[in-house]
Amino acid sequence: MIAVFRALLLVLLPALSQAQVLSLPATDDTLLPGPFMQVWQDPAGRADIDTVRALPATAWQSVGRRDASFGYSGSAYWLRLTLHNPQPRTMNWVMLIGNPLLDHLEAYGLDGDRVYRAGDQHPFDARWIEHRQLLLPVQLAAGENRELILRMQTNGSANLSASLMTAEAFAHTEQRMLLLQGLFFGALAVMIVYNLSIFLITRDRNYLWYSLFVASFSLYQFIQLGFALQWLWPQSLGWHQLSFPLSSAVATLFGILFTYGVLDLRNGPAFYTWIVRLLLGCTLLVIGLALLGPYKVALLGSFALVIACAAFACLFTLLRWRAGYQPARLFAIGWFVLIGASLFSILSGTGLIAYSLMTLHAQQIGGLIELVVFSIALAARIRQAQAAQQQAQARLFVQEHQLRLEQAKSLDLQKQVNEGLEIRVKQRTAALEQALKELSSANRQLSELNRRDSLTGLFNRQTLSEELDRATARAERSRHPLAILMMDLDYFKQVNDQYGHLAGDVCLYHAAQRMQQRLRSGDLLARFGGEEFVAVLSDTDLAGARDLAQQLCADLAQTPCGYEGQSIQLSLSIGISSGIPGAGLDSAQLLRQADQALYRAKGAGRNRVESYEASALDGV
Ligand code: GH3
Ligand code: MG
Ligand code: MG
Repeated sequence: MIAVFRALLLVLLPALSQAQVLSLPATDDTLLPGPFMQVWQDPAGRADIDTVRALPATAWQSVGRRDASFGYSGSAYWLRLTLHNPQPRTMNWVMLIGNPLLDHLEAYGLDGDRVYRAGDQHPFDARWIEHRQLLLPVQLAAGENRELILRMQTNGSANLSASLMTAEAFAHTEQRMLLLQGLFFGALAVMIVYNLSIFLITRDRNYLWYSLFVASFSLYQFIQLGFALQWLWPQSLGWHQLSFPLSSAVATLFGILFTYGVLDLRNGPAFYTWIVRLLLGCTLLVIGLALLGPYKVALLGSFALVIACAAFACLFTLLRWRAGYQPARLFAIGWFVLIGASLFSILSGTGLIAYSLMTLHAQQIGGLIELVVFSIALAARIRQAQAAQQQAQARLFVQEHQLRLEQAKSLDLQKQVNEGLEIRVKQRTAALEQALKELSSANRQLSELNRRDSLTGLFNRQTLSEELDRATARAERSRHPLAILMMDLDYFKQVNDQYGHLAGDVCLYHAAQRMQQRLRSGDLLARFGGEEFVAVLSDTDLAGARDLAQQLCADLAQTPCGYEGQSIQLSLSIGISSGIPGAGLDSAQLLRQADQALYRAKGAGRNRVESYEASALDGV
């Protein structure tokens, strides 16, 4: 805590002015030698050490800043510093140049005439001490005063950022530093792997952009802190130079893609997308510049790009936050921390803020906080997505429930309709059955009517022939006699002539009624034609038939037909045939025999009964 406070004081207080001899203590304290240095700027960068040594004292100016920071001028800066060892013994100190990106650093007076030449535009193994930063070993004998002259030239930020400490103190600090750096890059590596895994599982591209963003940010830090030249490409100086702005631009590219996705800017107002496209265009331009353009332009371009993107990221985050997008809150915190730290770092590079170890690591610390906050925000997004999924499931459940209800309703309706339909079908079927019944009854009546004679109501001749065949067959089976009466009204033509045809019809009806009344229910009476009738008598022999025939004759003779007040006398002649039907005697024969008997009755004077006699017929 005290160390931080002291560092802050050193950054903020005005510089101690005059260059003077820096007396090195034997304590573990870290000294910032800036205020003890004098500087001579060589814009052309062509002066050599002899020229510099020959410079008049007035040419030198007090550095006036603890970090000896001169911005991005590209000039060579000569710095001189006189160190003093007040100790009674030889002491080893280390001057640590905290800017690993310095292109060229030369040191005179460290070890006799041997010149220290290093920087990130020299192969890594040119360094006297193998270290990611530039380390100058300073050995002073007891009470010795030594003038050190340093020459620094770089295309980037001309920042010496030197600190002095004893070799023991350095070794001690270095242990802690490496542990912290290990933790820092370890944390970044974990985040890369973690988010990449989430991407592989969820296929949500935001996690891919985020892990690529963290990866390129890690590389940027790895380069900036000098690890990349030490471990990754110790000989590739050209590549090393361009890798710094390139990694910054690539990190910006993935940062933009990640922010665009994670703030859901696609679904925001159209100008979000336009600005993001513009920034992506600028980023590609800076990437192109880093690969092909001048280093300084690419470097400043990448810084300007970072500042512009950071400003828009903040703006979008705030706008999305105001629009009610919850994850934006955490992003806001993350962005502000990173941007604060980056500004701190960039401004110190320009010399506006004194450069120190703290500013060198501010971006690292800020970055780590930001990345952790972003991870939390991404996790919050997962929770939000889960909640949205749960809501969607709940909605689906309700919808399904409603659907089931609708289905049940429609089934019910269908059932009702079916029932209604069934009832109607039943009604129709019943009506149809009724109609069929009526039709068949009508048909029966019709066929009955067809069997009858319309005037007398007796069976007609057609029915007679059918029934006679049946009766003949029955009699034949039962071996019972069957008798036939063939009856004809006498002189009926005269009745017609005398009383008219209508009267004749009434007489026909009257005669039929009289005959019907006399017959048994099993007997059959039919109108044979005109004024002729036939009776078929079952189980009746000749005597029985004759008996009945005589009754019929007597009955009609005694019962005249009444017509319009007149009494019309009728009489009847009857011919009888009888026998047991079988071989040689069929219905036609029986009819013919009865007809012959009738013919005889007419011939014998009418109003009488004659039966068929075989001998008589045979004799004719
Ligand atoms: P016979 O004693 O020889 O039988 O003399 P008839 O006059 O009865 O016989 P005929 O065969 O010469 O005449 C039958 C008459 O019966 C002729 C016809 O005018 C009459 N007739 C036949 N069918 C009907 C009928 O349906 N209605 C009326 N009114 N007369 C009928
Ligand atoms: Mg006749
Ligand atoms: Mg007649």
